[in-house]
Amino acid sequence: MAVNILAFGPNGSGKGTQGAIVKDKYGVDHIESGAIFREHIKGGTELGMKAKEYIDKGDLVPDDITIPMVLETLAKSKEKGWLLDGFPRSKAQAEALDKSLTEAGMKLSYVVEIVLDRQIAKDRIMGRRLCANDNNHPNHIAFEAIKPVEKDGKLVCRVCGGELSARADDQDEDAINKRHDIYYDTGTGTMAAVNYFKNAGGAKMISVDGSVSINEVTDAIMKELE
Ligand code: AMP
Repeated sequence: MAVNILAFGPNGSGKGTQGAIVKDKYGVDHIESGAIFREHIKGGTELGMKAKEYIDKGDLVPDDITIPMVLETLAKSKEKGWLLDGFPRSKAQAEALDKSLTEAGMKLSYVVEIVLDRQIAKDRIMGRRLCANDNNHPNHIAFEAIKPVEKDGKLVCRVCGGELSARADDQDEDAINKRHDIYYDTGTGTMAAVNYFKNAGGAKMISVDGSVSINEVTDAIMKELE
């Protein structure tokens, strides 16, 4: 059976970085809802144009756009297995995912949660930079281990020398606060989705402290994976 993993963590917790490491361990596909949206925006698709207005404000893209988009992507990775990152972000999305996995004959293997204080997460977000060549090349102006490098007076990706940019929604405090309001909401938000899968059982739940170094977080996760 393919390994299927859900990755949870507030924006700024290093979820993307850790997710990339975990997906390499199992050779599964890394499916990131935010990245799929950004691809659509880059490509100027209708879905991208619709999603952009929500993303720029830090609002969730409506479920009638998001849920089918993610479920279709997951179905394509059924054989290979997947690590899903950025979805589900609400209790409603968790329920939709759970139902669809059962229908599709897919099973969750692990639920990984990176736990991080809200203020720390916010400080981290504002310093991160996105590589034009690979979304999973970590670059952050405030972390020595993943600091971008300087080339011709410009900061470029420390992994591949690619061009760097800051996401518009990463530099906007209101947008960050909104994203975190959604994440830390235990009623209907992302924490409700985490708790949904905690209570559902079935998958192995792995909760790690995200305030330590990247390597320490990786070690803590790897110890729990089989
Ligand atoms: P991320 O890269 O995960 O921070 O996602 C960037 C933005 O894409 C979010 O702030 C939302 O506007 C949108 N987005 C990503 N995943 C979801 C989701 N599961 N449901 C609704 N909107 C999403």
